[in-house]
Amino acid sequence: MSMDYMPQPRRSVAFIGSECYPFVKTGGLGDVMYALPRALTRLNCDVKVILPRYKCIPWKYQEKMVYRGEFYMDLSQDGRSYYVGIMEYVWDGVVYDFIDNEEFFGFGNPYTNLVDDIPKYCFFSKAALAALNYMDWHPDIIHCHDWQAGLVPVFQRTMFGGTPVAAAKTMLTIHNLRFQGIYNIPTIQFWSGLPDYVFNYQGLRQGYEDANMFKGGLAFADSITTVSGTYAQEIQTPFYGEGLDDHLRYHSGKLYGIVNGIDTDMWNPWTDSRLAVNYDITNVLERKKANKRALQESLGLAQDDHMFVIGLISRLTDQKGLDLVNEVLPQLIDGHTQVVVLGTGDDRYENSFRYYEDRFKGSVCSCIMYDEGRAHQIYAGADALLVPSLFEPCGLTQLIAMRYGTIPIVRETGGLKDTVEPYNANTNGGNGFTFDRYESGLLLDAINRAKTFYFTNRWCWDEMVQRDMDKDVSWENSARQYRDLYMQLKP
Ligand code: ADP
Repeated sequence: MSMDYMPQPRRSVAFIGSECYPFVKTGGLGDVMYALPRALTRLNCDVKVILPRYKCIPWKYQEKMVYRGEFYMDLSQDGRSYYVGIMEYVWDGVVYDFIDNEEFFGFGNPYTNLVDDIPKYCFFSKAALAALNYMDWHPDIIHCHDWQAGLVPVFQRTMFGGTPVAAAKTMLTIHNLRFQGIYNIPTIQFWSGLPDYVFNYQGLRQGYEDANMFKGGLAFADSITTVSGTYAQEIQTPFYGEGLDDHLRYHSGKLYGIVNGIDTDMWNPWTDSRLAVNYDITNVLERKKANKRALQESLGLAQDDHMFVIGLISRLTDQKGLDLVNEVLPQLIDGHTQVVVLGTGDDRYENSFRYYEDRFKGSVCSCIMYDEGRAHQIYAGADALLVPSLFEPCGLTQLIAMRYGTIPIVRETGGLKDTVEPYNANTNGGNGFTFDRYESGLLLDAINRAKTFYFTNRWCWDEMVQRDMDKDVSWENSARQYRDLYMQLKP
């Protein structure tokens, strides 16, 4: 009997993080907090997701929440007691417990500025643990996400020592190392009430006077994960380490990389209501053309099946390699190629893409906006998708592209390297085209290789399209790896 069919012991897991689709989402963290718990429930895990009850959560969810209880909790050094309410919502086998407090979560968006966010997430991390004790729910694993939940492992091992929740093992996942929750020691000590000894160099202390909430969490967690194996290696180097590379090297024995998946129901070209024509692997070659034409028509591009259409769907920031794209874009326009950009972000990129649209009318379209529907149409209608990131912890767009039979052209970094196997002419294998060093010449070369392949070897290109659609990019595989890690932590 294979291991997969052996019954696994049930594990209970508390997810603690600052955002979760569909309640509140600003980035990839929100997607993971939605999809991973659902995938884990299918693997015999009992999952509770603990979130702040922000005011911006849509009313249709707020009205379904059920009052679960309330208590008062110490937090800061001024000795005040803070209200903690628990509102519960059960959906598709996952229990969502929202921590309620008007003072911290009563205004608009989840993140405002560090002056407000530091106290907010000190409160949230402590209240989440206190709520688990209050509800008398003792998980095997407490799985925390990003800096906003970074203090959870620290609280658990200090102030909550000896309480029921201390028996759990903790895991802290790095989705984005760039944001760490750094502020001066007196402020963080005031708001967390944590003892002096955690503010040392092995713990929260950074530099002469600062404390770093993420750094503390990484030190105290029983296990650290990040969202791809390559990124797990990269963040141990100064270039990618965001100042924590030595700390991560020190803790590398408990650091693992597991790539994200995508929600294959949400991203399904066969059922996607936003597409001109639905398709699956059996009819993709014909029907993708119809989607290409519809895309060209809606964007005012020349309508021509024979064009090689390159998509780019991205936040327009330095992380995403857009300076390289800007450098090579004029060289891509050759009468057989069209470029479609969808994104918002830094002015300089927004403006340069607007400029290119103007200069290459009919060949370049720059949609400077956030538009889910258009994203779906580009994934379906483009031939290739560009992801030339400077760094990319995991990256979702290349996974979605493959699911839609669109060939990714990516830089070999982080999750891009782990999920896109470069085309190999000898074996006629691989999923896309890649380049290694962060240089515009290499990006241009990768795009030209893809283009040549498309125009001169369509039979093999089409095979790659079908291979990509067949690739497993679902959460199931990743959820299984998380569950195995939970089992290792708590056999
Ligand atoms: P990051 O989290 O760094 O922004 P990811 O690749 O992990 O990058 O996730 C990006 C997600 O956001 C994808 O689902 C992508 O389709 C979506 N997205 C990015 N920009 C836009 C946009 N302008 N309009 C619609 N969707 C977008």
